[in-house]
Amino acid sequence: MYNRFPKATVVQKYGGTSVGSAERIMHVAQRVVRLNREHNLRSAIVVSAMSGETNRLVALMNQINPDASRRNYDMAVAAGEQISTALVAAAIERCGAKARGLLAYQLGIFTDSFHSKARIANIATDKIEACWKNGEIPVIAGFQGVTADMEITTLGRGGSDTSAVAIAIALKADFCEINTDVDGFFTADPRMVTTAKLCPVLDYDVAFEMASLGSKVLHPRSVEIAAKYKMPLTIRNTFQPDNHERTVLMSLSDQDRLEAPVVSGVTVDQQIAKITIERLKPGVHTISEIFALIAQSEINVDIIVHNRTPGEDEMQLGFSVGKGEKDRALSILQQWNTKQKQVATIRAEEGLSKVSCVGIGMASHPGVASRCFKVLAQNNIDIHMISTSEIKISCLVDEADTKNAAQLLHAAFLEA
Ligand code: ASP
Ligand code: MG
Repeated sequence: MYNRFPKATVVQKYGGTSVGSAERIMHVAQRVVRLNREHNLRSAIVVSAMSGETNRLVALMNQINPDASRRNYDMAVAAGEQISTALVAAAIERCGAKARGLLAYQLGIFTDSFHSKARIANIATDKIEACWKNGEIPVIAGFQGVTADMEITTLGRGGSDTSAVAIAIALKADFCEINTDVDGFFTADPRMVTTAKLCPVLDYDVAFEMASLGSKVLHPRSVEIAAKYKMPLTIRNTFQPDNHERTVLMSLSDQDRLEAPVVSGVTVDQQIAKITIERLKPGVHTISEIFALIAQSEINVDIIVHNRTPGEDEMQLGFSVGKGEKDRALSILQQWNTKQKQVATIRAEEGLSKVSCVGIGMASHPGVASRCFKVLAQNNIDIHMISTSEIKISCLVDEADTKNAAQLLHAAFLEA
């Protein structure tokens, strides 16, 4: 990428493991300084907290008060990035270049006020431009933002990828580079499917689905905004030399989309629960009421199945949620059941996982779903729920079948 864009404007993001120790921070600083000199870059560096640090802060907060206001929570968990920002800037100075650490409130990364899952509204770039004018490399804290009232917010766990892409967009950068501890997106999680291969190029839409459906490579929102602004995004392994392989996310041409593999990847999302409501009295408002209550409690619903047999005065509703949200969802439904004088039976099952096939080519190739179900059926893998879109097929299976299902689907679609 650097050779393709002489004198590039670039945002380099370094994740938690990349800045996980003093030694690694020095390694990052050396690379930043070397690339700046070799390519005459205008670069902005975005950093995560040192690995484990945010978890430590979250755990401390939970030990003290699991119901702390989200404002106080954000103030605590955003602190990890303050430390790594200062350390990386200092390390760059030690390598003989000038650097300036900038926290969100100093730079002006403005967000809405939804603490712990804030969205970026606007980023001021004047401080970055000023750094470049002074020959300084700006080092910016990821993950954090600030409201118009100067309240500290955070973008949600893993959100520093989104900080980096948003800054790249604000700077109209040539590209944004995410430095992490894997080579990029793989056709499946290599720990689960040993035959998985690196995807050298992926369309944003596919990468977004893969990120949302369980691949932990990037914060899904970072891919969403990169797609919206067509910001080229590269994912590379900090621990490999610069010429090592990587994944580049871009918008594929119509022709490339046609020629793209039907399935680009198989992803897995574990720890899913399924809620089933039976003997529900039908009524036009029933479904909307139930999901309004669930949404008010900020529970994310994923797959929904609804079934009503014509002529019968009962219906069935099922949906999936994260395992951690199962109990809350159940108690909301039970309260509703009593209040509405419904006599529905409400059940929850845990121990499920979602296995998905994702690929842009699916949109123009019929038969992918049927092949997917056939492979699972031939191997006696039970499917509890299904959801599909133009470019993905997801099946809920027993957690015990996860690895087998992923391997079988990978073999069927990506190893033929
Ligand atoms: N440090 C934050 C986290 O661990 C943000 C990030 O690393 O992207 O979630
Ligand atoms: Mg991350």
